[in-house]
Amino acid sequence: MSSVYQPLGSHFVDGRYVNDEAGEAIPVIYPADGKVFATVHGATPAIVEQAISGAVAAQKEWAELTGTERGRVLTRAAAIMRERNRELSELETHDTGKPMSETLYADAASGADALEYFGGLAGTLTGEHIPVGQGDFVYTSREPLGVCVGIGAWNYPIQIASWKAAPALACGNAMIFKPSEETPLSALKLAEILIEAGAPAGLFNVVQGRGEVGASLVSDPRVDKVSLTGSVPTGQKVYASAAAEMKHATMELGGKSPIIIFDDAHLDNAVSAAINGNFYSTGQICSNGTRVFVQDGIRDAFLQRLSERMKNAVIGDPMDDATTIGPMISDRQRQIVLGYIAKGREEGARLVAGGNAIDGEGYFIEPTVFADVKDDMIIAREEIFGPVMSVLSFSDEEEAIRRANDTEFGLAAGVFTNDLARAHRVAARFEAGTCYINTYNLTPVEAPFGGSKMSGVGRENSKAAIEHYSQLKSVYVCVGDTEAAF
Ligand code: NDP
Repeated sequence: MSSVYQPLGSHFVDGRYVNDEAGEAIPVIYPADGKVFATVHGATPAIVEQAISGAVAAQKEWAELTGTERGRVLTRAAAIMRERNRELSELETHDTGKPMSETLYADAASGADALEYFGGLAGTLTGEHIPVGQGDFVYTSREPLGVCVGIGAWNYPIQIASWKAAPALACGNAMIFKPSEETPLSALKLAEILIEAGAPAGLFNVVQGRGEVGASLVSDPRVDKVSLTGSVPTGQKVYASAAAEMKHATMELGGKSPIIIFDDAHLDNAVSAAINGNFYSTGQICSNGTRVFVQDGIRDAFLQRLSERMKNAVIGDPMDDATTIGPMISDRQRQIVLGYIAKGREEGARLVAGGNAIDGEGYFIEPTVFADVKDDMIIAREEIFGPVMSVLSFSDEEEAIRRANDTEFGLAAGVFTNDLARAHRVAARFEAGTCYINTYNLTPVEAPFGGSKMSGVGRENSKAAIEHYSQLKSVYVCVGDTEAAF
């Protein structure tokens, strides 16, 4: 990729790239060198109007197709995405700063999985036949919601766009997607690919802009559903706005997830999970297990092995295949994380690795581990959204579960133990939407993903997502006479 990149247009509306330079110019920065490598413009009201009216028209046409016909478009799009994986990964690396060692496997590839999975499911979406006595019956039909709005965070731009678009389109809806203004580029590629795969113009649209563009989409009366991936405060605003008109909503929000490691755990597997669950994507993952509870008997061995393995992290040029830690998304986010590290130090947590920004170009920061963290410290309570692991100690199972659940969030949780009964006992008591036994942070499309408590409502991926992009109509059929009291 050249040092300057220009998408064919800022927005993708009605089947083509469009521009309206009256919209605010938004610079797109390569986080590894801090330089602007592209510019897009925020959507003006005229672009938003074009996107919504185009989506309304396209949805009607799309819903007339059979599920198999819709699915064929999605599976074709999945194949095109896989063919273009390297190009899409390079774009994603420039947009997010995440190393190629991640984007080649976890971004467009995961988006393609979603398109393929929901493409396969589209032809199987049916209602049911319900006998209700006297020969009467009810049948249900599964209907699309209409126009859906997707709003994305900056950590997994093409994955988030695809995870929302695939089930929405499979169910017969249209979508307007607003990426985070930090990472506007790859969703445009998804729109391009869907058109190439045979989707009608207007079915999947991308409009750029800051929060107010997202807000104007959510509040439009022609929009039937909103799916947001973002922080809890944004989720509260968007959910409230959707509620005002009784719109359907899926909220994929933040977390402060626990990983509980018992004395009998496989040490290296537990260390691997803690590393993956804190430092992949430079810690910018909603489901990260940022509170690592380690039982007293294994604590010293865990910290020693973790410290040894931290030395193997390769921080640097995200385009170099050997790099395992890239920069943070922005200097702003890096400053937020440095602020949390300073609070951890002030509150008396013991720094065992990292702790500093890395001088030079780009928004690099050392992966950081604190030990001796206490439950009431700010670093153990608030979502940091950066590469900062807190290690806490515990002595028995009951205590670990109580402390793990003592948070407003409920996105994910993990347990490491070789005791089969204990593993399931702990998983059953976790207050979290997505739980792991002896691994962490895997998100196959076949499994539901989402949060409980303040971490959100609804589920993405799996058959469960269908419930959030369609609605049932019940039709009562009477085969006898209809009686009345008089
Ligand atoms: P934000 O909540 O700041 O933003 C999310 C998106 O919402 C952005 O596109 C943003 O636009 C938009 N937005 C902001 N205000 C409004 C509004 N009033 N109405 C409509 N849209 C609005 O999150 P970040 O982008 O900073 O992402 C980090 C957060 O996302 C973390 O809390 C993380 O945990 C969470 N997340 C959750 C995931 C999950 O699946 N549960 C996965 C990934 C991240 P703009 O950026 O232009 O302001």
